Parts: sequence; C-alpha cells; structure tokens
Amino acid sequence: MQTTENRTEVKAIDCSHFIDGEYVPSINGKTFENINPATEEVLGTVAEGTKEDVDRAVAVARRALRAEWGNMPLRQRSALIRKVGDLILERKEELAVLESLDTGKPIWLSRSVDVERAAYNFHFFADFMTTVGTEAYQQDDIAMHYAVRHPVGVVGLINPWNLPLLLMTWKLAPALAAGNTVVMKPSEVTPMTATVLAQICKDAGIPDGVVNMVHGFGETGAAITSHDDVDAIAFTGETITGSAIMKAAAPTLKKLSFELGGKNPNIIFADADLDDVIETTLKSSFINQGEVCLCGSRIYVERSIYDEFIEKFQDKAKDLRVGDPFHEDTKVGALVSEEHYNKVLSYLDIAKEEGGHFVIGGKAAEGFEKGFFVEPTIITGLNSDSRCVREEIFGPVVTVVPFDTEEEVLHQVNDTHYGLSASLWTTNIKRATRLSAQIEAGMVWVNTWFLRDLRTPFGGMKSSGIGREGGAHSFDFYSELTNVTVKL
Ligand code: NDP
Repeated sequence: MQTTENRTEVKAIDCSHFIDGEYVPSINGKTFENINPATEEVLGTVAEGTKEDVDRAVAVARRALRAEWGNMPLRQRSALIRKVGDLILERKEELAVLESLDTGKPIWLSRSVDVERAAYNFHFFADFMTTVGTEAYQQDDIAMHYAVRHPVGVVGLINPWNLPLLLMTWKLAPALAAGNTVVMKPSEVTPMTATVLAQICKDAGIPDGVVNMVHGFGETGAAITSHDDVDAIAFTGETITGSAIMKAAAPTLKKLSFELGGKNPNIIFADADLDDVIETTLKSSFINQGEVCLCGSRIYVERSIYDEFIEKFQDKAKDLRVGDPFHEDTKVGALVSEEHYNKVLSYLDIAKEEGGHFVIGGKAAEGFEKGFFVEPTIITGLNSDSRCVREEIFGPVVTVVPFDTEEEVLHQVNDTHYGLSASLWTTNIKRATRLSAQIEAGMVWVNTWFLRDLRTPFGGMKSSGIGREGGAHSFDFYSELTNVTVKL
C-alpha cells in the first residue's frame, strides 16, 4: 500500500442508531464491525438494528410528524433545510475523510462530488420547496377546484454503499422539504457519513424525531419496508433487492420509489470528437472504481474508429493510478468490500471462460498486501450473450464491442432488461435526436456524461427503477394531494 498523504486528523467513528435526536445503541446491544476496504482494518463498530429498533424509530417519526414539524411554516422549514447544507459544507473535510475510509474511494472525489453534492441537495431543495405549487381549475360558475399538498407521512430511506452521503441526502432533502419525517437505513458497509448527517440535522435545528436512523443488515431494511406505520419507501440499490422490497411492501400498499441497477451503454460514432470521447469515457468507465449506477460499462464503437479508440483508450486507462484513497494522485481506490471484490473478480473469470480478451487489467491490482483493489479492465471479443455484457458488474470493468450500423447498435443497446442511462457520442444532430428518443433509458446524455441539473427527472425504466426523482418529481413522490372542490 502507498504511504498515506494528506490524511487529516479525522478519526473513524463508532456508529449508533439515531432516534428522537439521540444516538442510541440497539435494544439488544448487538454491534458489528465496520471494515476499511483499503486496509482491511476495523474502523469501528456499528449498532446492529432489529425489528424492535425499527419499531421505536417509526413510532418516534410518527409522533414528530404530528408535532412541531407538521405545523412549521414553509419559510422556517426551508431555512432549516438550507442550514443542513451549510453545516455539511462546514464539516466537509471530516465527511470526506469518513466517506473515503468507508468506501475506499479517492479523497478528492469524496470532497468534490460526494460532500459538495450532498450540501447542494439541501440547498437546492431549500429553494425549490418555496416554488412548488398545486393545480387549480375554475369550472365555469359552478365550482372551484384546487389541490392541497400534504406530506406522505413517515418515509423509509434505504440506500446503497457507492455514494452513501450523496444518495442519502438526495432522498432526505426532498423528503424533509415536503414535510415528512424519516427513518433512514444506510448500507451496512458504509454507515459513517449518515451517522454524522443525523447529528448535523439536529444541529441545524430540525426537531428531534424528524430524522431517525437505524443501522443494520438487510433484516433492518426489511423491517422498515414491511412496517405497518411506514407510508412510503425510497430505495436505491440492486434490482433484486427492489423486487424483495416490493413484495414486502405489498401487504401495506406503500408508495415506492426505486432507483435500481444499470448496464449502461456508451455509444460512440465515428464523427464524434475522439479526444473528448476518451476523456469522458475514462470517467464514465472507472470513476469511483466503476461503482456508480450511471457508469457506462458497455461501450459500442463504430467499426471505422474501433482500433484507434481502443489504442487511445487503453493508453490513458493504463496510467490511472490505483491505490491508497488518501493519496491525491489516486484515480481508482479500493472496492467497497471483500464480498464485492470477490464478485467483480468472479466476473473477470467469467470473461476469460467466455473467450474475452483483456486489453488491460483482468485481475486484482498487484502490490497490495491488504485491501480490495482491482485493475481497471477493458475487455474485447465478447458477444452480446456474454454475462459480462449483460449483467451489472459494478466495478472498474468495461466491455468494448464494434458496430457497423445505427440499427445494429440500437438493437444491442436496448437488448437488456436494464434501462437507466446511456451516453451517445456523435456530431450529427439528427442522429443524436433520433437515437435519443429510441434508446430505452431514463437518461440519455449526448456528447457528455453525468451532467446533471437537479430539476430534471432522474431514474430508470425497465428493471432499473420505478418513478423519477429530481425537482418536482421528488415532490410528487414525497407528497400526497387532496383535491378540494368548492361549489360556487
Ligand atoms: P443492495 O440492494 O444490496 O442494498 C441497498 C440497501 O438495501 C442496503 O442498505 C441494504 O442493506 C438494504 N437491503 C438489503 N436487503 C434488503 C431487504 N430485503 N429489504 C430492505 N432493504 C434491504 O445494493 P448495494 O448496496 O449492493 O448497492 C449497489 C447497487 O445499487 C447496484 O445495483 C447499483 O446499480 C445500485 N444503484 C443504483 C442507483 C440508481 O440511481 N439507479 C444509484 C446507485 C446505486 P445491507 O447493506 O445491510 O444489506
């Protein structure tokens, strides 16, 4: 392992639940260990929640909904939400270090994306909530109809490990802006930043009981999703977990928002600006160790530039520095856990069995006695039936396939049960417009990747999700409408 540079004095924390404004242990006192994926050292302990802890958190959240929070004027609630964003920025370095310790991601990325965006999620929704209206219709001289917006109630927020703070705040900020109370469950492998976030909410002045958090494994999540008194679930994670949640939530008919897995295509036509393509494709392939739901893991390149693309792409990708997340030059850190590392390595074995050729990578990164490091990997020679082309690997692994015609590539792009995002590279505006409308994905980027405006709809189609988040879409999920008809 490289020697650590620029590590601040921030220390890992033990993680307790946060219920009714206090850190509390599990009712049964159980904990589990939190492991640093870059060193395999124990970072600390985490309270292991059970159904009883969830019951307690939900009861508190229900009470808080009916108390001060439920009656707080809009401007006051907006100011508190803004303050959460301010306090996240005040504690930026601490949060960035904890995020990198937990996830193994490079510290510069935690600072510039995870924490910055977490703060912006609160700042954005603090502003946005003051602009949200409802519908009103005058029906001649017969009646006036208008809609009144209410919070949904107690909302369960369940999140994965890849962007722990960013994704939790992406749900928490609009849930609070719409007046709900919440029970959050971060991923068992990345519990630290959510633990600090709960205290930040209290410090910002959000009343006790509005923001609650229960740590634990899938059992904790399942207790939230099946709870009688939870009104809605906002979940980001694997498609198979989404399916389990849907089943668990069915008896109580909860409102559901799902952001699930993806196997996103990156489609490169010969008329694209290749330098721009290469720079962005390096990011869309390997940023955050490829552990971003939006990563473009299936790359399709028009045959006339295929060789040149491979040459230039591998040339840059092989220079990406893999290693210590706290080294400022590191581009690819550690994978999040031993379990996930083994899963990614198993796909590299599958690629070999399927006849794939590793242009670069294809194995665990060398030179590390500890930690879950995998080399950035570019695979060619696989056909469209290959498991590595079809299944979500969620690591620094991409497949590259040549294509000859627009029709052929469109067929391959859509030949998947996923439908989260796609990138399309062409300077032909007609083709860009035509294809964007035909690609089965919730988000299509043309000549870019990951560019977001938080007002726009975010989410996937097919097995990549249900519903959309962002701006008014988040508000629609986190609120209920009552239509009032007044006879004139
Ligand atoms: P998981 O689905 O394994 O876990 C997500 C969360 O759900 C965790 O907190 C987990 O707890 C919890 N959970 C597990 N089982 C249950 C259950 N039965 N009921 C309720 N909650 C449960 O996802 P990962 O953490 O592995 O995250 C990676 C996945 O997330 C990838 O598929 C990726 O594509 C997807 N993702 C999607 C995004 C999108 O916007 N579409 C964005 C980011 C990631 P525990 O960790 O304790 O098991």
